[in-house]
Parts: sequence; structure tokens; C-alpha cells
Amino acid sequence: MKINDHPALYLFILFGLFFSEMNSQEEIYSKISVSVIEPSVPQQLVALGMAIDHYEHNENNTISFYVTQDELQTLRDLKIDLTVEIEDYSVFYREQSISDSENLIDMTRNSTVANGFDLGSMGGFYTYNEIAGKLDEMKQDYPNLITTKISIGTSIEGRDIWMAKISDNPNINENEPVVYFDALHHAREPLSMATTINYMFWLLENYETDGQVKFLVDHREIYFVPVVNPDGYEYNRQTNPNGGGFWRKNRNPNDGNCVGVDLNRNYSFAYANNNSCSSPDPCSGTYRGESAFSEPETSAIRDFLAVVAPKTAFSTHSTSGSYLMPYGFDTSPPEFDIYSEWASIFLSENDYPYGVTFQMLGYTSCGTTRDFMHSEGIYGWTPEIDGAGFWPPQSTIFDLVSENVYPMFYNSWIAGAYVDIQSHKLLGDALPGESFSLVVETKNVGVGASAENVTVAIEVSVSGVMVSPPVNYGNIEARTRAD
Ligand SMILES: [Zn+2]
Repeated sequence: MKINDHPALYLFILFGLFFSEMNSQEEIYSKISVSVIEPSVPQQLVALGMAIDHYEHNENNTISFYVTQDELQTLRDLKIDLTVEIEDYSVFYREQSISDSENLIDMTRNSTVANGFDLGSMGGFYTYNEIAGKLDEMKQDYPNLITTKISIGTSIEGRDIWMAKISDNPNINENEPVVYFDALHHAREPLSMATTINYMFWLLENYETDGQVKFLVDHREIYFVPVVNPDGYEYNRQTNPNGGGFWRKNRNPNDGNCVGVDLNRNYSFAYANNNSCSSPDPCSGTYRGESAFSEPETSAIRDFLAVVAPKTAFSTHSTSGSYLMPYGFDTSPPEFDIYSEWASIFLSENDYPYGVTFQMLGYTSCGTTRDFMHSEGIYGWTPEIDGAGFWPPQSTIFDLVSENVYPMFYNSWIAGAYVDIQSHKLLGDALPGESFSLVVETKNVGVGASAENVTVAIEVSVSGVMVSPPVNYGNIEARTRAD
């Protein structure tokens, strides 16, 4: 039979060709900058459904972010004053990769880049399958410290959402404070996953040699979900196997409308608080979905959190280089003192700024993971890993993951007890032949447990000074000071 003999089949094949042609067309993304001298501009952009949540703030009072060509046209139609910095990101990305190849040779691995962590095949980042392979590798190399990877649910296209737990006796649910880390809600933010995988390896590799790591792993249940949005991430691999894919949402077909739901707008707390902080439009990058938890990916996270009940959590993104605390939907934070006390310590080395979205960036976002977590009694952050765009030069990846190990380590500690020296002062004069007192104020800055049997001992590094025996502070309740 010739195809022409059968009109219906002929039409079908024509349609099929047309459809696959449409699919292979890659969306062009431009990087633009917009003046924010008028402070309401970021909120206006969000109200237009623009995904500006990872924007860069420039010194000339402009912000830079990425838009599709439709979004660019919308802004032009509205006569919004803008400058196009990068016309076509895919061209820029190819050039960046070429110019970075020499830097790659000189890339060094400092002590917080784990040996098990390396560059993946997709622009330096692990693919979805490579991540699964890394979880298997961890289990093989450290069978007593991590579980076999477990699927906590499947995505809309049926991919597994993998989870692994690091702890001593990992296959037993012990009564220890729980910490939770996830990444890749947004499919184009592979730095979130890279930072998380590196931290996992770092814990495992340092367990035998670092007493603090050993104590932590022995006394915590630390859960990791490195890819919340496997479909979106795989879609980026399919369109851009060498990195540079810009898909953000999941791959919900939305009944033939535009594809995808923004998973970080689909949580229930303050869901769709009003139309200015998430979008009702399926074509928007911040489309919130039909209802809270309409997506299998967010439902899986909700159900998992309900079972394990963490005390502290990071739901990591990239690339604005900041740590966002709840609430995203509101202009002021709850429990600001607690969040900021921690951040001032765990960000002391990498100098990332921290705060609530509205104070820092001038807009609100609702239905976010961190707001939901806080409403469920979990101290939840959205770390935004720094970096030159969603797909930074490969030679910068080691430094970017490295500078976020300490915040993750600290966040793991404070889920349980963590005693910190708050202050110390001398009473009396430190003169030869005299005695004086040293008052040391301590605090259990953790939230999950009381610190048992806390002892402070003084060691002196010079001869001729006598010190009193160690002082026992007894037990210090969570979030309590003692001196
Ligand atoms: Zn994000």
C-alpha cells in the first residue's frame, strides 16, 4: 500500500512530522536588565508571571534576569525600559564553554570538595542517571553510613524521585534529630544538586577521620532528595545534552495548554495568596498549577516530610547567591531572630546575604517549599547557590559547591543540640600572682534536643598559668543560654 492510498494515515504522518519539528525547536532565552530605581518594579515583573527569583542586582540600580522571546515582547509592548545583555543564551553558553576550557586544566580541589564529587557530563553537572549512579556508588563505598536509594514517588512522566539517608545504622529509624535537604525543584539549577551531592560525599568521606562529622552522622538522621524535578531536568538534557538547558518547571502537559508547573509555587501554605506572587497562567514560568499539591513531585515531598518530620531543612536553588528564609509570601519573616542568628554564623565565611525575599529582592512569592516547611514546624531555608548564571563555567563548580559545605554542616547540627560559645569575659585583673575568673556564656543554638552534660574546659598555651578544673553546665535545653 502506498501512503497516498490512505488519506487518514497520510494526514497522521504529516501531523507527526510537524509535531516533532515543533518539539525540536529550542526556546531562545535572552538575558536582560531592567531599572529598579522605582522599587515596585520587581513585584510588577512577578505579577506579569516572569520568573525573576534568581536575578542579579547590578550596581547601576538595575536587575538582570532571563526571559523567553514572548516575555521580552510583553515587556517591550509595555514600554518597559530594558537592555538586552545576552541576545541568545545558547550562543553565549557555547562560547563560555570554549573560553573556559583552559581554566578547567587549572581547577583545584580544596578540602571541602569531596573526592567522590567530580564533574558530570552535562556542562560539568551530573545527569539524572549519573546522580542515581552516584547514590549507588555511595552505598557501595559506605554501606554502613547510607541507605540504598529509595524512590519516594514518581514524577508526572513516571521517573523516580530518589532519596537516600545518611546516618549510622542507616536502615534503622533511630530516635535522632532529623535534617532534610532537597535540590532541583527548578530544573535549570544544577548547582543546587551539585552542592547537595558534594555535601553527601563529604560527610561519608570524613566520617572516620573527623570527630565532629562522626558525632553528627551518629546522632542525626540526614535525608537527601537531590532531584525533586527529574522530568524537567531530563528535558534539559534532551534539548541541551552539553548543558545550558533553560527549562524551569516540571513537564505537566496542562491539558494541551503550555507545559509545566512551577513546583516552588505549588505548595499549600499561602498557595496563590494573590495573583501577584505566583501565576495562574500555564504559559508563565511561575505557573502555580491547578491547585496546591496538584503535582506528584510536590505531593511526594509533602508526604515524605510528614513521615520523617525534620527539624531543619534546606531546599536548595541557584543562582542569586543568597539564603532566603520564610516567608516568601509576606513582607516580614516569622522567628527572624532564630533564622538570622544561625545565618550570621553559617554564612560568616562565604558572605552570602540572607533575609526574606521581599526585604532582599523587592517581591513576594507564594506556595514555596520554605513557607510550607515553616508552617509545618520545620526551620526551612531556600539557599540560592551563587554562580555566573544557571550553567556557570565548569571551572567554577568546585569553588561554588565548596563554599556551601559549612552552611549545610551547620544546618545539620542545629536540628539537634549544638552548643556554641556566646561570649566570655574576665572578672579581676590578670596580673602575676593574682587569680581571676573567666565567665563563659554558652547557648544551645539547636532546636531539636537538649544538650546533655555540657562541660567547658580551659586549656592554656603558656606555662606558669594554673587553671581550674572543667566546669559542668549540666543540661542545656534547646534554644537556651547558660553561664
Ligand atoms: Zn529556583
